[in-house]
Amino acid sequence: MHGHLVLPPRFSGGPAVTGTGVPHFQVLARRYRPQIFPDVIGQDTIVRTLTNAITRDRIAHAYLFHGTRGVGKTTMARLLAKALNCAKGPTHEPCNACDSCREVTGGTAVDVLEIDGASHNRVDDVRDLQESLNYQPVRDRYRVVIIDEVHMLSRSAFNALLKTLEEPPGHVIFILATTELEKIPATILSRCQHFTFRRVSRADLHRHLEKIAGLEKLKLSANSLSMVARQAAGSVRDALSALDQVVSFCGAEAADADVEAVLGSLPAARVDELLLHITSGNPGGALSALRASEDRGDDPARFAEALLLRLRDLSVLAAVGVDTDLVEASAEERKELAAMAEQVGEDALVRLFQMASQLEPALRHSRHPRLLMELTALKMVRAADLTPLSELAARLMAPGVTGSLPAASPPPSPRPQAPPANTGAGAARGPGTAAPGDSNPRPAPGPANPSQTTAAGSALDMDRLRAAVENRRPAVAAFLEHAEGALVDGVLHLTFQPRHSFFKKSVEMPANVEALQQAMREVLGDGVTLRLGLAERDLPAPTPAPEKEADQRRRLLDDARNQPAVRSLRNVFGGEIVNIQPADPRSDAGSRETES
Ligand SMILES: [Zn+2]
Repeated sequence: MHGHLVLPPRFSGGPAVTGTGVPHFQVLARRYRPQIFPDVIGQDTIVRTLTNAITRDRIAHAYLFHGTRGVGKTTMARLLAKALNCAKGPTHEPCNACDSCREVTGGTAVDVLEIDGASHNRVDDVRDLQESLNYQPVRDRYRVVIIDEVHMLSRSAFNALLKTLEEPPGHVIFILATTELEKIPATILSRCQHFTFRRVSRADLHRHLEKIAGLEKLKLSANSLSMVARQAAGSVRDALSALDQVVSFCGAEAADADVEAVLGSLPAARVDELLLHITSGNPGGALSALRASEDRGDDPARFAEALLLRLRDLSVLAAVGVDTDLVEASAEERKELAAMAEQVGEDALVRLFQMASQLEPALRHSRHPRLLMELTALKMVRAADLTPLSELAARLMAPGVTGSLPAASPPPSPRPQAPPANTGAGAARGPGTAAPGDSNPRPAPGPANPSQTTAAGSALDMDRLRAAVENRRPAVAAFLEHAEGALVDGVLHLTFQPRHSFFKKSVEMPANVEALQQAMREVLGDGVTLRLGLAERDLPAPTPAPEKEADQRRRLLDDARNQPAVRSLRNVFGGEIVNIQPADPRSDAGSRETES
């Protein structure tokens, strides 16, 4: 037999200690590990699917459980093993009284192999396993093989495992569990029935904590419990570990302030402190916050994850406003977060969110996680400080214009990219692009465009048109300052330079188009259609003295590098300008048009 593969059930946290220094018999997460399917919280769909499969005798030969830590993957795997091997089974209601059930609970069932993929990741480990699987179950119906952290297997180990998954012995059920789906080969994935475990909602966690606090006779306020639920970020195990910590420091009766003090020692609280320094442009404070996190013994990966989740919530609130169920938080907390989101601004938050999404996978491959965190924090301070596009747009508006940007047209933002899977140190680098438009140099304020006529068109009084628009929507009038107007054959062409495409987009908002069309009817009469277009390129700068092409290119590159906006972008994202395309002043700029 291969007894070395059978691991004792793992404890979910360090042994907690009561106020008197007497160790708890069991940590809460272990004492309250669900032993029947209905006790599993927050994974209803998976429970339903699995219990149906058991009832209908449609058990797959391989399952893959995927999800973040502490959401119930191993618990579910053991429940499934129990259900399959219960003396009264297979049943979706294992009795928890027969030898098989009790041994699974105790982690000693000889037909249930629980393997830690991290420490048994070699091909020889898998071969040993395969050899042992040739034997029939010792006593029970199935041999159930649970491989935790299966993504840690080496390539050759995966290949060996694949052979077994392709032709599994009839008495063997595999349950693979992982936190990192992207590291599982597609060939393995395709042979498993795949379940994704969700983070448990804060409301579910709160109810669970309430129940356990009641059973443990803990005197904790609802507010304390919601603090615990909040910092657990969807992980049942983390929530119960935090509760353990509260009890071990404060005893069974804790005031909110005490609970807060204990939880303050958890990463989530320090993440908020870090973000405060990042968004207030304080690199020294940001580094101190990281140092505090290190002194407290935070795991960098957990810290980075907490940071990512926080920035996600803030970005969502900045994008959709405070009235959303997309951010799991109490109403008061959501209001606080929304205020912070508004202060920082959506552009900056999305940039920070994106950087945090790249930090987490990069940390896994870094040999210097602390340095990587510091580097990212410093970059974040810079990224948070870039002038928001909306502010630039406001500055570009002609003086005296009282209108503001329409609330319904947030500036375009880069979408957060999916975290790269295995890019090693490369993943530490920032994104190659920034929010479009941020690098626009601020054009010198010019005079309003003169009224235009064309050979084929009638006179167009842009000033009158703008005034008519201003009465309806002042902001649109400001946007029109940047448009060239031409009235040709009953069509009003409004053309923006590419660097002003943001204004064109803003004018294209339905409400703005409507205001513009009303103004057109007033000034130009009925029957004029509107076309908004973008010029082929920006208006050329004054022609420089002739110079050799190579010299010109070098000068342009230097100029570009020294643009303040480009400089801060490069400081933040670490990119390099590899080429620059001078606008050709001689060519006749055509125009692309879109119809409105
Ligand atoms: Zn049983």
